[in-house]
Amino acid sequence: MKFFLMKRGCFPGISFAFLIFLSSISPVGAQNRIILHNAKIYTMADDASVNEAILVEGNRIIALGINEAILSMEDVNTDVFDLQGRTIFPGFIDPHTHLFGQAFGMGYDLDLIQQLALEVGVTSAAEMHVSEEQTEYYRQYAQSDNMRFRLYLYLNFNDSCGNVWGSWYEKYPPNVDIGPRLRVNGVKIFSEKSLCGANGAEPVFSNKLLKFFTPLGLAQWGNTQLLFSFDELKKIILQATDQGYQVAVHAIGDVGIETTLKAIESVLKSSQDKKTNRYRHMVMHNHFLTDDLLHKYARNNIIALIEPPTTCQANNYAEGVGERNMKYFKRVDDLVETGAHVAIDSDWPIVTQLLNPMNKLRAIVTGKAGTCPSDINLQRVSVFEGLKMMTSEAAYALHCEDHLGSLEIGKLADLVVLSQDPFEVVPDNIRDIQVLLTMVDGKIEFLRDNDGDSIPDILE
Ligand SMILES: [Zn+2]
Repeated sequence: MKFFLMKRGCFPGISFAFLIFLSSISPVGAQNRIILHNAKIYTMADDASVNEAILVEGNRIIALGINEAILSMEDVNTDVFDLQGRTIFPGFIDPHTHLFGQAFGMGYDLDLIQQLALEVGVTSAAEMHVSEEQTEYYRQYAQSDNMRFRLYLYLNFNDSCGNVWGSWYEKYPPNVDIGPRLRVNGVKIFSEKSLCGANGAEPVFSNKLLKFFTPLGLAQWGNTQLLFSFDELKKIILQATDQGYQVAVHAIGDVGIETTLKAIESVLKSSQDKKTNRYRHMVMHNHFLTDDLLHKYARNNIIALIEPPTTCQANNYAEGVGERNMKYFKRVDDLVETGAHVAIDSDWPIVTQLLNPMNKLRAIVTGKAGTCPSDINLQRVSVFEGLKMMTSEAAYALHCEDHLGSLEIGKLADLVVLSQDPFEVVPDNIRDIQVLLTMVDGKIEFLRDNDGDSIPDILE
């Protein structure tokens, strides 16, 4: 069956055609095949290739190429979409969220939260704060076939107040699916206190930075303490590493970051895993990074996860740490320059409004996201780097780059169709780009219909 992008009214049968499409997928015994053609497909593969058409069969990408070549593979089981030049990217991956946790804690519906993610093109997310009770809850949810995108769990060793939950995570082997599209990936560790009761984050800073703090900043963060000594943290990371778990460590202040980087470095040395860091230990937040720490990521293959900064957040920090320390703030471009793996994330996606990858991209590309006027120069990256940080680099962070993160033959068919090409719009307008179609595992999980006429916008 063929679908053409046409203005409404040009093709009176289109609504009927679409209804047939919804009900006619996969004749018995045949694999569902979908061709998207006349598109601009940014594969985000290492060769940065761009293609015109893609063939998906079942849940895999079978072919990529020019329109004629892919259309010649059409058969009776193939649904064909003419995208009229629209843009395709790999499904977006968010390597650090509290998406389900937020839902769980606030009594939200997990179905709704997933729908929100799919509507903005998020096809994979890491849930970065998970208890045993939640693990079982998510497992039941997934086993009832409710998971429409992919969720990667990071099980807590301790909580944001510093309470140690211990190695209970060992009940769940690493990198094993515990339900359809649900995987236990690693262990979450707080090196510093974070949101605990009414308190905000409690980053730990060195004297080098503290000497430029404002009185307000000193009152707030002048006496904060790490949750673990270097030796304790090393022991915790070593135990997880010996069992094959990736660790994801929360660290915001330069002392928290330094202690974490050195603990990981030391574990890698003693486990003969120097440089390769095969479990891909990662540091989350990385807010205040001094020059001496910058090269430790690339050198040890430690992954940096960063939330794109906003002007309001930068102003808030500057009021405490002092303007002179803001040169250390979220050095995303400096990290890329060192050759480190860097991915961007949303953390609290509903509160930060960063669930939408286009908001993330606009923020990291312009350095001007947020409603607060600000003179602080925030680090930025190119549109291409920003997109990598939400696709191939995010897949690398979650150990799933063999199957996801780029559009290549044999990989899983997670992709999005965008209303506009982010390389071609004014950077500030990236946030206006809409997701028209989201595909997960070869299945169309979302089709936008802004005008409510039951015809997906992609067909109008
Ligand atoms: Zn977090």
